[in-house]
Amino acid sequence: MKITRAGTNPSAEAPEAWFTGRVRIDPVFQAEAPGRVAGAHVTFEPGARTAWHSHPAGQSLLITFGRGRVQREGGPIEEVSAGDVVWFPAGEKHWHGASADTAMSHYAIHEAIDGVSVTWMEKVTDADYSA
Ligand code: MN
Repeated sequence: MKITRAGTNPSAEAPEAWFTGRVRIDPVFQAEAPGRVAGAHVTFEPGARTAWHSHPAGQSLLITFGRGRVQREGGPIEEVSAGDVVWFPAGEKHWHGASADTAMSHYAIHEAIDGVSVTWMEKVTDADYSA
């Protein structure tokens, strides 16, 4: 058994290469092998979002605060709010972020395959975000 005490996982600014706007990532848990699931709490300021990306084993988002936007490739932008749960299947290209005026936080839970849990792609343009 292992207990990770509150306050021992430093918050991190999300890397600019893969995010637009101010995004904070708070690590929550990381399974030890042979487990492969990890979770983080992610907070997007208004207008902030991920780049397009996919997850080799899929991803669940548990929206915990505010109002946000999610989109899968070829689909419409969908509005999400606290309490909503979003599932992206393995390999599905998508992005997630805050709404234009209200911040959004979510738990992101995903598994790694061969050590990889995300494949990053191009950024979401302002035009695509506002479509
Ligand atoms: Mn994702």
